[in-house]
Amino acid sequence: MITDTTRILLLDDDPFVLELMGHQLAELGFSRVTAMDQAAHALAVLEMEPGAFSVILCDLQMPAMDGIEFVRHLVRLGYDKGLVLMSGENQRILHTAETLARAHRLQVLGALAKPVTLEQLRRVLACRPPREASSPRLVYGPQEVERGIAGGELMLHYQPKVEVATGAVVGFESLARWVHPRDGLVYPDQFITTAEEHGLMDALTRVVLGLAVAQARRWTDIGLDLHMAVNVSMDNLTSLEFADGVAGELKGAGMPPSALLLEVTESRLMKDPQASLDVLTRLSLKRIGLSIDDFGTGHSSLVQLRDIPFGELKVDRGFVHGAAHAPASRAILEASLDMARRLGMQTVAEGVEEREDWELLCGLDCDLAQGYFIARPMPAADVPAWVEAWENGRHLLNEG
Ligand code: C2E
Ligand code: CA
Ligand code: CA
Repeated sequence: MITDTTRILLLDDDPFVLELMGHQLAELGFSRVTAMDQAAHALAVLEMEPGAFSVILCDLQMPAMDGIEFVRHLVRLGYDKGLVLMSGENQRILHTAETLARAHRLQVLGALAKPVTLEQLRRVLACRPPREASSPRLVYGPQEVERGIAGGELMLHYQPKVEVATGAVVGFESLARWVHPRDGLVYPDQFITTAEEHGLMDALTRVVLGLAVAQARRWTDIGLDLHMAVNVSMDNLTSLEFADGVAGELKGAGMPPSALLLEVTESRLMKDPQASLDVLTRLSLKRIGLSIDDFGTGHSSLVQLRDIPFGELKVDRGFVHGAAHAPASRAILEASLDMARRLGMQTVAEGVEEREDWELLCGLDCDLAQGYFIARPMPAADVPAWVEAWENGRHLLNEG
C-alpha cells in the first residue's frame, strides 16, 4: 500500500515543477519526498540503494538524460516499485513511453500530462501496485526451474473469457504458477524466460497440458460447458509428435478436441519455422482449436496469420487497455478486429482492465473479452462459484 510514509522520488529538470508538485504531494500527506533535477543523481542513489524509493515520478523531457533512458536504467537495476511518467509534450509520446515501460514489466501507476493536477496525483498514488503483495522479484536458475517442473510444483490459475454481447462465460485460459517450496506463489515472468532459454518449455508445456485437460474434464463432469485454453510457444511445435501427444492426452481424459484451444505465440528463439507450420496444420486437422496470441506485438505477425489456420485472434492487451483515450492503439485494435473478421476468425480482446475498456469493446465488433475488469486469474477451486455469481449478475454489466 502507498501510505504517507512512502518514499517518493520526484524527478524533473524544471525547478518550478519540482516546487509545485512538492507542495501537491505535501498536501496529499506525503512527507518523504526527494526532489531531483537530474536523472544521473537519481541513478547514483538507486545504484547504492535500489529500494530507496517506493514511487518514482519522472518527467520524460529532460536535457541531459531523458526519461526514456532513465527508465531503461530502472529496468537494468531491477527496480520493481511504482513509476509515474509525466510529460508536457503530446499524449502520443506519453502513451508510447508508458507502453515501453510496461513492456519492460515496470509497474506503471500512471502517465500524466503536465501540468499535473492534485486530483490526478491523488488518483495515481491511490493505485495499489499489483505486485506489492507477492514475493520480491527473483529470477530463478535453470536447475531450480527444471526441478520445479519435474517435481510437480506447477499449478494453474484460470482466467475467464466472456462474450461481449451477452456476458456469457465461454471458457478459461490456463496460466502457469509455480508453488515454490521456499518463496510461495511465483508468476510466469519469473520462470518462463529461463525455461525458454534452457530448453525446458517442452517439459513445462507437457505438465501444463496434463493439468489443464484434467481440469477441463472435471468441469464437464460438474456440468460446466467451457473450453480450456493453454499457452504454447512456437518453440514447442517443432516435434511432429506434438499433435499426437495432445490428441492422446485429450483421448485419455475422454474430451473432444474442440474442448481445447492452444494460444500460440511466436518464440523469440524460433529455430525451425517450417516444422512449427507442419505441427500447427496437423493440430488443426485434428480439430484442436488454435488462437494467435498477443496479436500486434513483435511476436505475432501477419505472415503467421496468412499461413496458419488460426480460428481465434487475441489482440494484445497493449492495444486494448486505455484504448478509449489512445487513438493509435484504438486504430490498431479496430483494424485487427476487422481483419480477423474478414478472415472468419473469432476475436478476443485481452487486458480489459477497467469499465471504459469494456465499454469501448461494446461499441466495436469484438466477440470475446478477457481481463481484470471481468476477473483476475483464479485457482480451480474458485471457478464454479465465480461462474455462478457472474451468470447471476451479468445482466447488470452494461448498466452504470
Ligand atoms: P498471456 O498469454 O498474454 O496471458 C495473459 C496475462 O495477462 C496473464 O499474466 C494475466 O494474468 C494477465 N492479465 C489478464 N488480464 C489482465 C488485465 O486486465 N490487465 C493486465 N495488465 N494484465 C492482465 P500471467 O499469468 O502473469 O502470464 C504472463 C504470461 O506468461 C502469459 O501471457 C503467457 O505468455 C506466459 N505463460 C503463462 N502460463 C504459460 C504456460 O503455461 N505456457 C506458456 N508457454 N506460457 C505461459
Ligand atoms: Ca495467452
Ligand atoms: Ca496475450
